Amino acid sequence: MTERPYEIRDNLRAIPPYRAPQADAPVRLNTNESPYAPPDAVLKELGERIVNAGLNRYPDRDAAALRAALGARFSWPSAGVWPANGSNEVIQTVLLAFGGPGRRAVVFEPTYGMHTHIAHVTGTDVVSVTIPEPWVLDPNAVADAVRESEPAVTFICSPNNPTGTAQPLAAVAAALESGPGIVLSDEAYGEFGGESATTFLGKYDRLGIVRSFSKSWRLAGARLGYLLAHPWLVEAIQVARLPYHLSALSQACAEIAIKHAPQSLAAIDEIIAERDRLAKEMERVPGVEVFPSAANFLLFRTSIEGTKLWKSLADAGVLVRDFSTMIPGCLRVTVGTADQNLTFVETLRRVLTDART
Ligand SMILES: *Cc1c(COP(=O)(O)O)cnc(C)c1O
Repeated sequence: MTERPYEIRDNLRAIPPYRAPQADAPVRLNTNESPYAPPDAVLKELGERIVNAGLNRYPDRDAAALRAALGARFSWPSAGVWPANGSNEVIQTVLLAFGGPGRRAVVFEPTYGMHTHIAHVTGTDVVSVTIPEPWVLDPNAVADAVRESEPAVTFICSPNNPTGTAQPLAAVAAALESGPGIVLSDEAYGEFGGESATTFLGKYDRLGIVRSFSKSWRLAGARLGYLLAHPWLVEAIQVARLPYHLSALSQACAEIAIKHAPQSLAAIDEIIAERDRLAKEMERVPGVEVFPSAANFLLFRTSIEGTKLWKSLADAGVLVRDFSTMIPGCLRVTVGTADQNLTFVETLRRVLTDART
């Protein structure tokens, strides 16, 4: 690292920035995006909207049209919807408002590293509770953790990244009923499986549901996500958001994707079917253990050292994600097209065979 003429904040010095490898491999199955471009109808309408978007003016600060469209999808008031630049911005804004020095966030590991990362960046202490394999949350363990550490924010990720585990809704309820803080249910993969905490929205006013356009909506490049919560919670976090944070282009993109929701989401069933087919294929490879997944990715374990396997796959043109420092022996593969999945399984089989001989 180059020397810094002036140092950043003490609590940030030891933290590395988010850096999932973005190498240009022929088969990229490492970041859980959709393998499919947005539908033609969306792209065509977006092109027309961009031309007429009035970019000399600031966008609608409250994204009223987009909030109404999202609210309608969940039969939830638009005052309880807050779209942002990816669900990561939602998480950051909630932590800026409710976390910070002297406050804690609880995470159940192994889980999405950005919850901890963003908490640290906002000066929030993190209480990390390790969940044993097969990583299904026990509501009693959740209740204990929340009672003990009295967090300002508790994260529950379902389906959980990187394990793929669909968590019981009782875990969300347990967190809400065991402490006074905010409970964020990260449902970035909610469209692929598991039970959604949206059924709790009218019941618990400290619940926030975080969803994304990055995975199921085929719009990772557009950076769009949203919060569903009681209107007081949406109102409360506005103090921490930047003015005009969501560009007119982003708002238009989400509005148009929602207008064409059936086409935008049409590939989900196919990806779920491919996931289940891929899991079966992988299990037929000797020495591979695949964990159940309710998302668009699969976590798997082999007897080979994880980083070594990751490197061999990458050298063969197949990019997956190495989680072996978090979960020994484990890598995560995103479900791609049928062709990509086939290439992945064949490469995995070959690399493992070579490693044994
Ligand atoms: C991919 C992912 C997100 C998505 O973040 P965006 O900022 O919406 O792209 C959020 N949470 C989890 C658990 C994820 O895996």
